[in-house]
Amino acid sequence: RLEIRNLKRRFGDRMVVDDVSLSIMPGQVTCLLGPSGCGKSTTLRMIAGVDTQDAGEIYVDGNLICDTVFRVPPERRQIGLMFQDFALFPHMSVADNVAFGLKGPKVEKRARVETLLERVGLGWTIDVFPHQLSGGEQQRVALARALAPRPRIMLMDEPFSGLDNRLRDGIRDETLSVLKQEDTAVLLVTHEPDEAMRMADEIALMRDGRIVQQGAPYNIYNAPVDLEAVAFFSDIN
Ligand code: ATP
Ligand code: MG
Repeated sequence: RLEIRNLKRRFGDRMVVDDVSLSIMPGQVTCLLGPSGCGKSTTLRMIAGVDTQDAGEIYVDGNLICDTVFRVPPERRQIGLMFQDFALFPHMSVADNVAFGLKGPKVEKRARVETLLERVGLGWTIDVFPHQLSGGEQQRVALARALAPRPRIMLMDEPFSGLDNRLRDGIRDETLSVLKQEDTAVLLVTHEPDEAMRMADEIALMRDGRIVQQGAPYNIYNAPVDLEAVAFFSDIN
């Protein structure tokens, strides 16, 4: 379970993240949805631990991992990351890519890698190299790699935006089903309403650093908080 409370981040005299609070249960996908520059990636970076907040606290499964004085380092937060440029290591086989963050006996690592590659429908790629795969296939390997160490939380920043339109819906659905099987709490960042509508259990609508509305996709779509939200959603197709 991920909980963030009253998170704030200022750059110069601009409040880029302004009092953001969220709570995400295991198996639940929350979409942080909003226009370019509203502070989505900055929020994710603070949760991942690669940026520091000016105020607020972050908890994973009830344990404090970060406030303004105490910080658990990024690699010990049990948080998986997936960004748009999800680059796999080109000189490593798919199996080695997925096993990269894993510790423990070789047999166990191998079993975990096989399970995950099966789940993303790529069992046959185990000894293949990344350049032999399509963009969509590489994206699924990246998902398997991010999930391999069993993160409690998964942070995804526009993970599908580099993909072909025709591929995207299929991969969104597959990704969702794998994330549910792993029972991970997911915070997915997007500026596309249709992606949020398709993937989210809950949408947090963000604007100018603040969450202006939060709830089930259906409710947000049917009862936007103001005219600006109506305009933002009218792009949907
Ligand atoms: P997009 O959808 O385009 O990715 P975003 O919602 O992810 O947008 P952020 O990357 O969080 O937006 O950036 C929010 C604002 O903070 C932007 O105006 C950006 O220029 C500014 N910003 C981000 N990082 C820094 C930084 N390190 N120093 C100064 N300003 C920054
Ligand atoms: Mg961003």
